[in-house]
Amino acid sequence: MSPHRIGLTGGIGSGKSTVAGIFAGLGVPVLDLDKVGQTVVQIGSSGLEQLVDAFGTNILNHDGSLNRKALAQYCFQDAARTAKLNAIMHPLIWQAEENWLSQQHGDYVIIEASVLLESGSAGRMDAVIVVLANLALRRKRVLARGDCSTEEFDAIVARQCSDTTRREAADFMIINEGSLAQLRQQVFDIERLLQRKYHVN
Ligand code: ATP
Repeated sequence: MSPHRIGLTGGIGSGKSTVAGIFAGLGVPVLDLDKVGQTVVQIGSSGLEQLVDAFGTNILNHDGSLNRKALAQYCFQDAARTAKLNAIMHPLIWQAEENWLSQQHGDYVIIEASVLLESGSAGRMDAVIVVLANLALRRKRVLARGDCSTEEFDAIVARQCSDTTRREAADFMIINEGSLAQLRQQVFDIERLLQRKYHVN
């Protein structure tokens, strides 16, 4: 039997990747679906070919790789284009997730995705962990990380679902507004509950 799928999500800067890292440190297999989404459209992939067929070569960089910002700008201003993009990306990501899962052992795995709820991927999870933190703190953490401007942060928040939706979808909730030690403790507690629920022997 393949391991149970535990989805892990939260808004930008909530601390998903940090939580995923703590699970990985406990020996739990972790798949980053956002990274998978990049891998399936690498240069030479059939995924990239499908995107170019759908949206043209303006979405490419000079070296032939995908220009993510150009793709986002082109697609996210138009619902039909967004739907077309999702119709290409979701099956590719789902297939890669299946391939990865078939190679995993253990009782459960963590599948981290920033848009787990928005993309409909939550439906294939056995349970969902949601990481929450207030917006001001998330903004401060992301800007301190230095890979995103205030404008980009606001645009991503606007595209992501609300904390109300996240709370409704959550089987387990982590409030990440304290120290890293407090975060770690919350993950340990959930890990124990998951062990109890999904351990086979
Ligand atoms: P994204 O959606 O952008 O991928 P994320 O939800 O994965 O973000 P992280 O990258 O885990 O969030 O965390 C955002 C930043 O905040 C990181 O630099 C991380 O080290 C830091 N961080 C997370 N939790 C805490 C905490 N409890 N105390 C201090 N810093 C934290």
